[in-house]
Parts: sequence; C-alpha cells; structure tokens
Amino acid sequence: MTRPSTGGRIEVICGGMYSGKTEELIRRMRQVMIARQPCRIFTPRLDTRYSAQHVASHAGAKLEAVPVSSMREVLANADDVQVVALDELHFMQDGAAAILAGCQGLADRGLRVIVAGLDQNYRAEPFDGMMQLLAVAEQVDKLYAICVRCGAYATRSQRLIDGRPAPADAPTIVVGGLDLYEARCRSCYEPAR
Ligand code: ADP
Ligand code: ZN
Repeated sequence: MTRPSTGGRIEVICGGMYSGKTEELIRRMRQVMIARQPCRIFTPRLDTRYSAQHVASHAGAKLEAVPVSSMREVLANADDVQVVALDELHFMQDGAAAILAGCQGLADRGLRVIVAGLDQNYRAEPFDGMMQLLAVAEQVDKLYAICVRCGAYATRSQRLIDGRPAPADAPTIVVGGLDLYEARCRSCYEPAR
C-alpha cells in the first residue's frame, strides 16, 4: 500500500501494557483534530461508579472521550463524524462478534476507525475481540514496552498478586496499574499458575 485509502479503514494499535497504545491513539487523534475532521473518542465504561470523560496515557497525556458500555452506543454516536477512536478495546463487554461487526460496519460506512487495545491477556493468550480485528484491519501497529526484569522489548503483561503470577483461573479483566501488572518479555514472563 503506497498511500492510505481515503475511504473507510480500520487501524489497530496493539501491544502489552505500558507499550504506548494510548499515547499513539492520542497522537493520531490530535492530528485529526488539527485537520478539523469531525471525530469522537470512545472509552469503555467498565466501572459505572467512575465514568471517565477522557482517555489518559500512563505518562499523563489526555483527551476528552465519551464513556460507552457497548458497541451499540458507539454506533449510535458516530453518525456525525468521519473518524472514530476506541481506546482499551479489550474492555468492551459485548463479545468478539459484536466488536468485529461494529468496527467493520463503521469502516464500511467510510469512517476511519482507530482502535487501541491489548493483543494478549495476562495468560499471554490472544485477546478475544482484538484478534479478530487484527485480522481484518487495513493497518496494524504493534508497540512494545520495556521488560522490567531485563530491559528487552516487552510483549506481555504480567499480572501479579503479592509479587507472584496470578492464577490461571482468575477473571480475564481486572483493572489495575503498576501495582498489579508488569511489562515482561517472553523469557521473563512467568505463566499463570
Ligand atoms: P498503554 O496504553 O499501552 O498501556 P500508555 O500510552 O498509557 O500505554 O503509556 C505509555 C507510557 O507508560 C510510556 O510512555 C512510559 O512513560 C510509561 N511506562 C511505564 N512503565 C513502562 C515500561 N515498563 N515500558 C515502557 N513504558 C513504560
Ligand atoms: Zn525480560
């Protein structure tokens, strides 16, 4: 592809925790805003007690976002825009089929759809929803964090409980930061017990 299509497209920004996915999404959306293209950023409303009105990177960059509970809500709020961004896609609760159909539908309507999310869960398995989008996307960028153990590029997110790998039968989605997750490379990653 020598130049990106001017029609609809899906861009996936993936990688482990702290790899800079949200920073990259914010960078692309700032350009969209400078170009004055009508756009909207969505973020999954995971916890109804706290509804964040923005996406924020671990390094502090922030942009306004609309909290949503389902792909249906995204679709219902995308009629007046050309560009849609969806951060933390792995937190969308509707299941892979709805996520895939929703994003495909937006791109088929001519929208640029920018999605950021984890490509692997804490068990180092492909993340449902993300893996389907990775297959159909026009553009995929895989980012890397730095392994906290050895300094190599980290592709995995290690979930820890009291410093030990979390059990394999724990819930797939547990919201947390540096207290709960570490960036690790393949050799330093310890499998869930
Ligand atoms: P993601 O959305 O992929 O979780 P963010 O964009 O929110 O990532 O944050 C990326 C930032 O996280 C980096 O710019 C850096 O400041 C910080 N960071 C914290 N731990 C690490 C790490 N182990 N490797 C790389 N960056 C890290
Ligand atoms: Zn390592």
